[in-house]
Amino acid sequence: MSMSKNAWVSEVWNPVGDGIGWTPLFARAFNDWEIDLVERLLQKIQAFRVQREEEDRVIWTASKDGAFSVRSLYSMMELGGLSMFPSERIWRARVPPKVAFFAWEASWGKVLTQEQLQRRGFSLANRCFLCLSEEETVDHLLLHCIKTRVLWNLLFSLFGISWTLSGTVKTTLLGWNGGFMGKRRKKAWQMAPLCIFWSVWKERNRLAFGDEDLSLQRLNNLWFWVRGSLAESHSSLVSFVDWIGS
Ligand SMILES: [Zn+2]
Repeated sequence: MSMSKNAWVSEVWNPVGDGIGWTPLFARAFNDWEIDLVERLLQKIQAFRVQREEEDRVIWTASKDGAFSVRSLYSMMELGGLSMFPSERIWRARVPPKVAFFAWEASWGKVLTQEQLQRRGFSLANRCFLCLSEEETVDHLLLHCIKTRVLWNLLFSLFGISWTLSGTVKTTLLGWNGGFMGKRRKKAWQMAPLCIFWSVWKERNRLAFGDEDLSLQRLNNLWFWVRGSLAESHSSLVSFVDWIGS
């Protein structure tokens, strides 16, 4: 599953800038039945951070003296984590794993949108399936599309607040602070963006694949036929797409 099987820890750890944290690269998108496993792996490694300057020793990075305390753990979780990746926002929300994992993929921009297909060398007219006017990128689809905006605005009026969405999925989740909500409403608030992402993606796929005339559906058929006739094992459409392009 990993892009490079013999990678050193330093190669999958980004020590600088906004993206500080683990940066595993996977060879393909995951199947539904693999998502639980991957989620558990990611939750495990997120607890560890790489300190390059110092000699190896066990320290707790959330407190100043390096010793563990429950208080430091609590304040770390309250702040939404130390990294600039919205891990806490994604994995602490009480949503099904596949919903959380989709948000995780979307935050990394690793969702098979038409833009991603174009980057892989496919020539297609990139049009958002929802609004049929803008180009389909993950941020357009999940945040800025006028059809998606209806859903966001409905959410904000349900909670009785006005809110400005950030430019990207990642920054939207990073800024998704529910501190001003009561304890019970906060849980719903934390789940809300992940639910919208998932609902929009499901609807997008229904529109994309429900119509026989769309080329993506044909691609899917091709994948099935190739699997049957060439004994090529591609467990997902994404790996098949990569294989064609290789
Ligand atoms: Zn759109």
